[in-house]
Amino acid sequence: SLSERLGGVFDRLRGRGALSEADVRTAMREVRVALLEADVALPVARSFVDKITEAAVGQQVLRSVTPGQQVVKIVHDALVDMLGPETAELELAVTPPAVVMLVGLQGSGKTTTTAKLGRLLKSQGKKVMMASLDVNRPAAQEQLAVLGTQTDVATLPIVAGQQPVDIARRALSAAKLQGFDVLMLDTAGRLHVDQALMDEMKAVAGIANPAEILLVVDSLTGQDAVNVASSFSEQVPLTGVVLTRMDGDARGGAALSMRAVTGKPIKFAGMGEKLDALEPFHPKRVAGRILGMGDVVSLVEKAAASIEQEDAERMAQRLAKGKFDMNDLRAQLGQMRRMGGIGALAGMIPGMKKAQAAVDQVGGDKVLLRMDAMITSMTPKEREKPELINAKRKIRIAKGSGTTVQDVNKLLKMHQEMQTAMKRIKKMGGLKGLMGLFG
Ligand code: GDP
Ligand code: MG
Repeated sequence: SLSERLGGVFDRLRGRGALSEADVRTAMREVRVALLEADVALPVARSFVDKITEAAVGQQVLRSVTPGQQVVKIVHDALVDMLGPETAELELAVTPPAVVMLVGLQGSGKTTTTAKLGRLLKSQGKKVMMASLDVNRPAAQEQLAVLGTQTDVATLPIVAGQQPVDIARRALSAAKLQGFDVLMLDTAGRLHVDQALMDEMKAVAGIANPAEILLVVDSLTGQDAVNVASSFSEQVPLTGVVLTRMDGDARGGAALSMRAVTGKPIKFAGMGEKLDALEPFHPKRVAGRILGMGDVVSLVEKAAASIEQEDAERMAQRLAKGKFDMNDLRAQLGQMRRMGGIGALAGMIPGMKKAQAAVDQVGGDKVLLRMDAMITSMTPKEREKPELINAKRKIRIAKGSGTTVQDVNKLLKMHQEMQTAMKRIKKMGGLKGLMGLFG
Protein backbone atom coordinates (compact mmCIF):
# COMPACT_ATOMS: atom_id res chain seq x y z
CA SER A 1 0.00 0.00 0.00
CA LEU A 2 0.96 3.63 -0.29
CA SER A 3 1.47 3.92 3.46
CA GLU A 4 4.01 1.09 3.40
CA ARG A 5 5.80 2.45 0.38
CA LEU A 6 6.14 5.85 1.96
CA GLY A 7 7.12 4.31 5.26
CA GLY A 8 10.14 2.81 3.55
CA VAL A 9 11.12 6.04 1.89
CA PHE A 10 10.73 8.16 4.96
CA ASP A 11 11.83 6.06 7.90
CA ARG A 12 15.25 7.66 7.76
CA LEU A 13 13.78 11.09 7.92
CA ARG A 14 11.80 10.76 11.15
CA GLY A 15 11.92 13.81 13.35
CA ARG A 16 12.89 16.39 10.79
CA GLY A 17 11.16 19.74 11.00
CA ALA A 18 9.60 20.63 7.71
CA LEU A 19 9.07 18.58 4.57
CA SER A 20 11.79 19.60 2.13
CA GLU A 21 11.25 19.73 -1.59
CA ALA A 22 13.51 16.69 -2.07
CA ASP A 23 11.56 14.69 0.56
CA VAL A 24 8.28 15.55 -1.05
CA ARG A 25 9.47 14.73 -4.56
CA THR A 26 10.66 11.32 -3.41
CA ALA A 27 7.33 10.70 -1.75
CA MET A 28 5.35 11.90 -4.73
CA ARG A 29 6.99 9.34 -6.99
CA GLU A 30 5.42 6.70 -4.76
CA VAL A 31 2.13 8.55 -4.68
CA ARG A 32 2.06 8.61 -8.45
CA VAL A 33 2.61 4.86 -8.66
CA ALA A 34 -0.16 4.30 -6.12
CA LEU A 35 -2.54 6.49 -8.12
CA LEU A 36 -1.76 4.65 -11.34
CA GLU A 37 -2.26 1.30 -9.61
CA ALA A 38 -5.65 2.58 -8.49
CA ASP A 39 -6.49 3.25 -12.15
CA VAL A 40 -6.25 7.01 -12.04
CA ALA A 41 -5.62 8.15 -15.59
CA LEU A 42 -2.02 9.22 -16.22
CA PRO A 43 -2.56 12.91 -17.03
CA VAL A 44 -4.84 13.24 -14.00
CA ALA A 45 -2.31 11.56 -11.71
CA ARG A 46 0.41 13.81 -13.05
CA SER A 47 -1.39 17.08 -12.48
CA PHE A 48 -2.65 15.96 -9.09
CA VAL A 49 0.88 15.14 -7.96
CA ASP A 50 2.17 18.50 -9.18
CA LYS A 51 -0.46 20.36 -7.19
CA ILE A 52 0.16 18.39 -4.02
CA THR A 53 3.91 18.75 -4.27
CA GLU A 54 3.54 22.48 -4.13
CA ALA A 55 1.22 22.33 -1.16
CA ALA A 56 3.30 19.82 0.82
CA VAL A 57 6.73 21.41 0.61
CA GLY A 58 7.47 23.27 3.80
CA GLN A 59 4.71 21.72 5.89
CA GLN A 60 5.73 20.90 9.42
CA VAL A 61 5.98 17.24 10.33
CA LEU A 62 4.02 16.53 13.47
CA ARG A 63 6.09 15.10 16.29
CA SER A 64 4.45 11.73 16.74
CA VAL A 65 4.10 10.70 13.11
CA THR A 66 6.64 9.96 10.39
CA PRO A 67 7.04 12.27 7.41
CA GLY A 68 5.64 9.44 5.27
CA GLN A 69 2.47 9.33 7.32
CA GLN A 70 2.21 13.08 7.13
CA VAL A 71 2.47 12.96 3.36
CA VAL A 72 -0.20 10.26 3.18
CA LYS A 73 -2.49 12.56 5.17
CA ILE A 74 -1.77 15.51 2.89
CA VAL A 75 -2.44 13.40 -0.19
CA HIS A 76 -5.58 11.95 1.37
CA ASP A 77 -7.00 15.36 2.21
CA ALA A 78 -6.24 16.65 -1.26
CA LEU A 79 -7.94 13.61 -2.78
CA VAL A 80 -11.06 14.09 -0.68
CA ASP A 81 -11.07 17.73 -1.62
CA MET A 82 -10.73 16.97 -5.28
CA LEU A 83 -13.29 14.16 -5.29
CA GLY A 84 -15.81 16.78 -4.34
CA PRO A 85 -18.84 17.13 -2.12
CA GLU A 86 -20.16 14.30 0.05
CA THR A 87 -23.68 14.24 -1.33
CA ALA A 88 -25.05 15.95 -4.35
CA GLU A 89 -28.79 16.07 -4.77
CA LEU A 90 -30.45 15.94 -8.14
CA GLU A 91 -31.48 19.37 -9.34
CA LEU A 92 -35.18 18.93 -10.08
CA ALA A 93 -36.59 22.34 -9.20
CA VAL A 94 -37.85 23.17 -12.67
CA THR A 95 -41.28 23.30 -14.26
CA PRO A 96 -42.35 19.65 -14.35
CA PRO A 97 -41.61 17.27 -15.80
CA ALA A 98 -37.95 17.58 -14.73
CA VAL A 99 -36.02 15.54 -17.26
CA VAL A 100 -33.12 13.40 -16.07
CA MET A 101 -31.08 12.00 -18.94
CA LEU A 102 -28.51 9.24 -18.53
CA VAL A 103 -25.65 8.88 -20.99
CA GLY A 104 -22.61 6.65 -21.22
CA LEU A 105 -20.95 3.72 -22.93
CA GLN A 106 -22.71 0.42 -23.51
CA GLY A 107 -22.79 -1.75 -20.43
CA SER A 108 -21.82 1.07 -18.10
CA GLY A 109 -25.07 0.62 -16.19
CA LYS A 110 -27.37 3.30 -17.62
CA THR A 111 -30.54 1.22 -17.71
CA THR A 112 -29.98 -0.22 -14.24
CA THR A 113 -29.21 3.24 -12.84
CA THR A 114 -32.29 4.71 -14.53
CA ALA A 115 -34.44 2.19 -12.68
CA LYS A 116 -32.53 2.70 -9.40
CA LEU A 117 -33.00 6.46 -9.59
CA GLY A 118 -36.61 6.09 -10.66
CA ARG A 119 -37.24 3.92 -7.62
CA LEU A 120 -35.42 6.35 -5.33
CA LEU A 121 -37.31 9.40 -6.58
CA LYS A 122 -40.58 7.56 -6.33
CA SER A 123 -39.82 6.69 -2.71
CA GLN A 124 -39.33 10.41 -2.14
CA GLY A 125 -42.90 10.98 -3.24
CA LYS A 126 -42.26 12.00 -6.83
CA LYS A 127 -44.37 10.85 -9.74
CA VAL A 128 -41.82 9.29 -12.07
CA MET A 129 -41.92 8.03 -15.64
CA MET A 130 -39.05 6.23 -17.39
CA ALA A 131 -38.44 5.92 -21.12
CA SER A 132 -35.79 3.99 -23.02
CA LEU A 133 -34.38 5.65 -26.13
CA ASP A 134 -32.17 2.66 -26.88
CA VAL A 135 -33.16 1.39 -30.31
CA ASN A 136 -29.76 -0.14 -30.97
CA ARG A 137 -29.73 -3.06 -28.63
CA PRO A 138 -32.45 -5.62 -29.18
CA ALA A 139 -34.92 -5.69 -26.30
CA ALA A 140 -33.31 -2.73 -24.56
CA GLN A 141 -36.69 -1.00 -24.24
CA GLU A 142 -38.23 -4.20 -22.88
CA GLN A 143 -35.42 -4.40 -20.31
CA LEU A 144 -36.47 -1.03 -18.89
CA ALA A 145 -40.16 -2.02 -18.98
CA VAL A 146 -39.33 -5.09 -16.87
CA LEU A 147 -37.37 -2.97 -14.39
CA GLY A 148 -40.33 -0.58 -14.29
CA THR A 149 -42.63 -3.41 -13.29
CA GLN A 150 -40.18 -4.58 -10.62
CA THR A 151 -39.88 -1.12 -9.11
CA ASP A 152 -43.48 -0.13 -9.72
CA VAL A 153 -42.34 2.90 -11.71
CA ALA A 154 -44.26 3.86 -14.87
CA THR A 155 -42.58 3.37 -18.25
CA LEU A 156 -43.45 4.87 -21.61
CA PRO A 157 -45.36 2.34 -23.76
CA ILE A 158 -43.11 0.91 -26.48
CA VAL A 159 -43.86 1.79 -30.10
CA ALA A 160 -41.83 -0.27 -32.56
CA GLY A 161 -39.72 1.47 -35.19
CA GLN A 162 -39.45 4.91 -33.58
CA GLN A 163 -36.17 6.81 -33.54
CA PRO A 164 -34.69 8.13 -30.25
CA VAL A 165 -35.58 11.75 -30.93
CA ASP A 166 -39.20 10.81 -31.65
CA ILE A 167 -39.40 8.65 -28.54
CA ALA A 168 -38.06 11.58 -26.51
CA ARG A 169 -40.76 13.85 -27.93
CA ARG A 170 -43.46 11.33 -27.21
CA ALA A 171 -42.17 10.76 -23.68
CA LEU A 172 -42.09 14.46 -22.97
CA SER A 173 -45.66 15.07 -24.07
CA ALA A 174 -46.93 11.96 -22.26
CA ALA A 175 -45.18 13.06 -19.05
CA LYS A 176 -46.63 16.56 -19.37
CA LEU A 177 -50.10 15.34 -20.16
CA GLN A 178 -50.17 12.82 -17.32
CA GLY A 179 -48.68 15.17 -14.74
CA PHE A 180 -45.40 13.38 -14.02
CA ASP A 181 -42.87 15.24 -11.86
CA VAL A 182 -39.83 13.52 -13.31
CA LEU A 183 -39.08 11.96 -16.69
CA MET A 184 -36.07 9.65 -16.79
CA LEU A 185 -34.50 9.20 -20.23
CA ASP A 186 -32.34 6.10 -20.63
CA THR A 187 -30.22 6.38 -23.76
CA ALA A 188 -28.32 3.99 -26.01
CA GLY A 189 -24.64 3.40 -25.52
CA ARG A 190 -21.87 2.31 -27.81
CA LEU A 191 -18.86 0.13 -27.22
CA HIS A 192 -16.70 3.14 -27.92
CA VAL A 193 -17.36 6.82 -28.17
CA ASP A 194 -18.47 7.66 -31.70
CA GLN A 195 -19.90 10.69 -33.42
CA ALA A 196 -23.26 9.15 -34.35
CA LEU A 197 -23.89 8.47 -30.68
CA MET A 198 -22.87 11.99 -29.70
CA ASP A 199 -25.13 13.53 -32.33
CA GLU A 200 -28.02 11.47 -31.03
CA MET A 201 -27.31 12.63 -27.44
CA LYS A 202 -27.17 16.24 -28.55
CA ALA A 203 -30.41 16.02 -30.50
CA VAL A 204 -32.25 14.42 -27.58
CA ALA A 205 -30.84 16.96 -25.11
CA GLY A 206 -31.91 19.74 -27.46
CA ILE A 207 -35.50 18.52 -27.44
CA ALA A 208 -35.83 17.43 -23.82
CA ASN A 209 -33.89 20.27 -22.19
CA PRO A 210 -32.88 18.03 -19.26
CA ALA A 211 -32.52 19.39 -15.72
CA GLU A 212 -29.84 16.73 -15.21
CA ILE A 213 -27.58 14.96 -17.68
CA LEU A 214 -25.74 12.25 -15.79
CA LEU A 215 -22.75 10.46 -17.23
CA VAL A 216 -22.83 6.83 -16.10
CA VAL A 217 -19.37 5.30 -15.85
CA ASP A 218 -18.22 1.85 -14.85
CA SER A 219 -15.73 2.36 -12.01
CA LEU A 220 -13.61 -0.41 -13.49
CA THR A 221 -12.85 1.86 -16.45
CA GLY A 222 -9.14 2.42 -16.15
CA GLN A 223 -6.91 4.62 -18.25
CA ASP A 224 -9.72 5.09 -20.78
CA ALA A 225 -11.78 7.04 -18.24
CA VAL A 226 -10.28 10.32 -19.39
CA ASN A 227 -11.31 9.77 -23.00
CA VAL A 228 -14.83 8.79 -22.05
CA ALA A 229 -15.23 11.76 -19.74
CA SER A 230 -13.78 14.31 -22.09
CA SER A 231 -15.71 13.18 -25.18
CA PHE A 232 -19.02 13.22 -23.37
CA SER A 233 -18.45 16.44 -21.49
CA GLU A 234 -17.29 18.24 -24.61
CA GLN A 235 -20.45 17.37 -26.47
CA VAL A 236 -23.28 17.34 -23.96
CA PRO A 237 -23.66 19.67 -20.99
CA LEU A 238 -23.22 17.14 -18.17
CA THR A 239 -24.46 18.02 -14.71
CA GLY A 240 -23.04 15.07 -12.82
CA VAL A 241 -21.55 11.59 -12.82
CA VAL A 242 -22.75 8.22 -11.53
CA LEU A 243 -20.08 5.62 -10.87
CA THR A 244 -21.33 2.06 -11.13
CA ARG A 245 -19.87 -1.23 -9.89
CA MET A 246 -18.40 0.41 -6.82
CA ASP A 247 -19.35 -2.85 -5.08
CA GLY A 248 -16.64 -4.60 -7.07
CA ASP A 249 -12.91 -4.44 -6.57
CA ALA A 250 -12.41 -1.17 -8.44
CA ARG A 251 -9.75 0.90 -6.73
CA GLY A 252 -11.63 4.11 -7.30
CA GLY A 253 -9.24 5.81 -9.67
CA ALA A 254 -11.96 6.39 -12.26
CA ALA A 255 -13.69 8.66 -9.75
CA LEU A 256 -10.72 10.99 -9.64
CA SER A 257 -10.33 10.97 -13.41
CA MET A 258 -14.02 11.68 -13.96
CA ARG A 259 -14.07 14.49 -11.50
CA ALA A 260 -10.87 16.04 -12.83
CA VAL A 261 -11.96 15.95 -16.45
CA THR A 262 -15.64 16.88 -16.19
CA GLY A 263 -15.41 19.13 -13.14
CA LYS A 264 -18.91 17.86 -12.30
CA PRO A 265 -19.88 16.28 -8.98
CA ILE A 266 -20.10 12.52 -8.63
CA LYS A 267 -23.67 12.25 -7.43
CA PHE A 268 -24.21 8.54 -6.86
CA ALA A 269 -22.36 5.26 -6.59
CA GLY A 270 -23.86 2.02 -7.89
CA MET A 271 -23.26 -0.69 -5.31
CA GLY A 272 -24.70 -3.79 -6.98
CA GLU A 273 -27.17 -5.20 -9.46
CA LYS A 274 -30.14 -4.94 -7.12
CA LEU A 275 -32.40 -1.98 -7.62
CA ASP A 276 -31.87 -0.58 -4.14
CA ALA A 277 -28.08 -0.72 -4.52
CA LEU A 278 -27.52 2.99 -5.08
CA GLU A 279 -25.73 5.22 -2.60
CA PRO A 280 -24.58 8.81 -2.37
CA PHE A 281 -20.94 9.12 -3.32
CA HIS A 282 -18.54 9.07 -0.36
CA PRO A 283 -15.30 10.90 -1.21
CA LYS A 284 -13.54 9.82 1.99
CA ARG A 285 -14.20 6.17 1.39
CA VAL A 286 -12.97 6.43 -2.19
CA ALA A 287 -9.85 8.38 -1.19
CA GLY A 288 -9.08 5.59 1.27
CA ARG A 289 -9.49 3.03 -1.48
CA ILE A 290 -7.27 4.89 -3.86
CA LEU A 291 -4.48 5.20 -1.32
CA GLY A 292 -5.00 1.74 0.10
CA MET A 293 -4.13 2.94 3.55
CA GLY A 294 -5.27 1.73 6.91
CA ASP A 295 -5.65 4.15 9.75
CA VAL A 296 -2.86 6.54 8.91
CA VAL A 297 -5.28 9.38 8.44
CA SER A 298 -6.83 9.13 11.88
CA LEU A 299 -3.39 8.66 13.40
CA VAL A 300 -2.23 11.92 11.89
CA GLU A 301 -5.42 13.66 12.90
CA LYS A 302 -4.88 12.56 16.48
CA ALA A 303 -1.28 13.77 16.42
CA ALA A 304 -2.42 17.12 15.08
CA ALA A 305 -5.00 17.45 17.83
CA SER A 306 -2.43 16.76 20.54
CA ILE A 307 -0.03 19.28 19.05
CA GLU A 308 -2.78 21.86 19.05
CA GLN A 309 -3.33 21.13 22.71
CA GLU A 310 0.40 21.61 23.43
CA ASP A 311 0.43 24.81 21.42
CA ALA A 312 -2.53 26.17 23.28
CA GLU A 313 -0.97 25.43 26.67
CA ARG A 314 2.32 26.96 25.69
CA MET A 315 0.48 29.98 24.39
CA ALA A 316 -1.40 30.40 27.64
CA GLN A 317 1.88 30.41 29.57
CA ARG A 318 3.42 32.96 27.27
CA LEU A 319 0.40 35.19 27.46
CA ALA A 320 0.51 35.05 31.24
CA LYS A 321 4.01 36.53 31.02
CA GLY A 322 2.98 39.11 28.44
CA LYS A 323 5.37 37.61 25.91
CA PHE A 324 4.69 37.27 22.22
CA ASP A 325 7.51 36.76 19.72
CA MET A 326 7.59 35.55 16.12
CA ASN A 327 7.50 31.92 17.26
CA ASP A 328 4.23 32.63 19.01
CA LEU A 329 2.92 34.42 15.98
CA ARG A 330 3.85 31.46 13.83
CA ALA A 331 2.09 29.06 16.19
CA GLN A 332 -0.97 31.25 15.92
CA LEU A 333 -0.78 31.35 12.15
CA GLY A 334 -0.56 27.57 12.08
CA GLN A 335 -3.60 27.37 14.28
CA MET A 336 -5.50 29.77 12.07
CA ARG A 337 -4.66 27.67 9.08
CA ARG A 338 -5.85 24.50 10.73
CA MET A 339 -9.03 26.12 11.87
CA GLY A 340 -9.58 27.83 8.55
CA GLY A 341 -9.68 31.19 10.28
CA ILE A 342 -8.86 32.71 13.57
CA GLY A 343 -11.79 31.30 15.45
CA ALA A 344 -12.04 31.39 19.20
CA LEU A 345 -8.95 33.45 20.00
CA ALA A 346 -9.98 36.29 17.72
CA GLY A 347 -12.58 37.62 20.08
CA MET A 348 -10.24 37.48 23.06
CA ILE A 349 -7.14 39.21 21.82
CA PRO A 350 -7.52 42.68 20.32
CA GLY A 351 -4.62 42.34 17.86
CA MET A 352 -5.99 39.11 16.50
CA LYS A 353 -9.04 40.78 15.10
CA LYS A 354 -6.84 43.03 13.01
CA ALA A 355 -4.81 40.07 11.86
CA GLN A 356 -7.95 38.28 10.82
CA ALA A 357 -9.16 41.29 8.89
CA ALA A 358 -5.80 41.56 7.13
CA VAL A 359 -5.87 37.88 6.27
CA ASP A 360 -9.45 37.94 5.05
CA GLN A 361 -8.77 40.96 2.92
CA VAL A 362 -5.97 39.37 0.94
CA GLY A 363 -7.48 35.95 0.58
CA GLY A 364 -6.94 33.60 3.50
CA ASP A 365 -4.71 30.59 3.30
CA LYS A 366 -2.17 31.91 0.85
CA VAL A 367 -1.41 34.84 3.09
CA LEU A 368 -0.97 32.61 6.09
CA LEU A 369 1.44 30.47 4.14
CA ARG A 370 3.36 33.54 3.01
CA MET A 371 3.61 34.82 6.55
CA ASP A 372 4.85 31.43 7.63
CA ALA A 373 7.44 31.50 4.85
CA MET A 374 8.67 34.91 6.03
CA ILE A 375 9.06 33.71 9.60
CA THR A 376 10.90 30.64 8.31
CA SER A 377 13.37 32.92 6.55
CA MET A 378 14.25 34.70 9.81
CA THR A 379 17.09 33.54 12.03
CA PRO A 380 16.12 32.04 15.40
CA LYS A 381 17.40 35.21 17.07
CA GLU A 382 15.25 37.39 14.88
CA ARG A 383 12.23 35.31 15.68
CA GLU A 384 12.72 35.95 19.37
CA LYS A 385 13.61 39.61 18.94
CA PRO A 386 12.06 40.90 15.71
CA GLU A 387 13.22 44.42 16.58
CA LEU A 388 16.68 43.27 15.45
CA ILE A 389 15.49 43.08 11.85
CA ASN A 390 17.02 45.97 9.88
CA ALA A 391 16.49 47.11 6.29
CA LYS A 392 19.13 44.77 4.90
CA ARG A 393 17.69 41.78 6.71
CA LYS A 394 14.21 42.67 5.49
CA ILE A 395 15.45 42.37 1.93
CA ARG A 396 16.98 38.97 2.71
CA ILE A 397 13.82 37.74 4.38
CA ALA A 398 11.68 38.91 1.47
CA LYS A 399 13.98 37.15 -0.99
CA GLY A 400 14.13 33.99 1.07
CA SER A 401 10.36 33.75 1.29
CA GLY A 402 9.45 34.92 -2.19
CA THR A 403 7.70 38.01 -0.85
CA THR A 404 8.39 41.75 -0.84
CA VAL A 405 9.88 44.07 1.76
CA GLN A 406 6.42 45.58 2.02
CA ASP A 407 5.04 42.19 3.02
CA VAL A 408 7.77 41.85 5.64
CA ASN A 409 6.90 45.28 7.00
CA LYS A 410 3.25 44.34 7.23
CA LEU A 411 4.11 41.18 9.11
CA LEU A 412 6.35 43.08 11.53
CA LYS A 413 3.67 45.68 12.11
CA MET A 414 1.07 43.03 12.75
CA HIS A 415 3.37 41.31 15.20
CA GLN A 416 4.05 44.59 16.95
CA GLU A 417 0.37 45.30 17.37
CA MET A 418 -0.22 41.88 18.77
CA GLN A 419 2.73 42.23 21.13
CA THR A 420 1.36 45.53 22.39
CA ALA A 421 -1.99 43.88 22.94
CA MET A 422 -0.29 41.12 24.92
CA LYS A 423 1.43 43.64 27.15
CA ARG A 424 -1.88 45.29 27.81
CA ILE A 425 -3.34 41.93 28.71
CA LYS A 426 -0.44 41.38 31.12
CA LYS A 427 -1.20 44.68 32.83
CA MET A 428 -4.81 43.69 33.20
CA GLY A 429 -3.70 40.66 35.15
CA GLY A 430 -2.76 38.24 32.40
CA LEU A 431 -5.01 35.87 30.58
CA LYS A 432 -6.92 35.12 33.77
CA GLY A 433 -7.77 38.77 34.20
CA LEU A 434 -8.81 38.95 30.58
CA MET A 435 -11.02 35.92 30.93
CA GLY A 436 -12.52 37.59 33.98
CA LEU A 437 -13.59 40.50 31.82
CA PHE A 438 -15.57 38.19 29.61
CA GLY A 439 -16.69 35.72 32.26
P1 GDP B 1 -26.29 -0.09 -20.00
O1 GDP B 1 -25.85 -0.79 -21.21
O2 GDP B 1 -25.44 1.10 -19.75
O3 GDP B 1 -27.73 0.23 -19.98
O4 GDP B 1 -26.00 -1.09 -18.77
P2 GDP B 1 -27.04 -1.96 -17.91
O5 GDP B 1 -27.80 -1.10 -17.00
O6 GDP B 1 -27.80 -2.85 -18.82
O7 GDP B 1 -26.03 -2.80 -17.00
C1 GDP B 1 -25.11 -3.73 -17.52
C2 GDP B 1 -24.81 -4.77 -16.44
O8 GDP B 1 -24.18 -4.16 -15.32
C3 GDP B 1 -26.06 -5.42 -15.88
O9 GDP B 1 -25.81 -6.79 -15.73
C4 GDP B 1 -26.25 -4.76 -14.54
O10 GDP B 1 -26.90 -5.61 -13.62
C5 GDP B 1 -24.83 -4.50 -14.12
N1 GDP B 1 -24.72 -3.36 -13.20
C6 GDP B 1 -25.18 -2.08 -13.34
N2 GDP B 1 -24.86 -1.33 -12.27
C7 GDP B 1 -24.17 -2.12 -11.42
C8 GDP B 1 -23.54 -1.92 -10.14
O11 GDP B 1 -23.55 -0.83 -9.55
N3 GDP B 1 -22.91 -3.00 -9.60
C9 GDP B 1 -22.88 -4.21 -10.21
N4 GDP B 1 -22.24 -5.20 -9.59
N5 GDP B 1 -23.44 -4.43 -11.41
C10 GDP B 1 -24.09 -3.42 -12.01
MG1 MG C 1 -29.18 0.12 -21.49
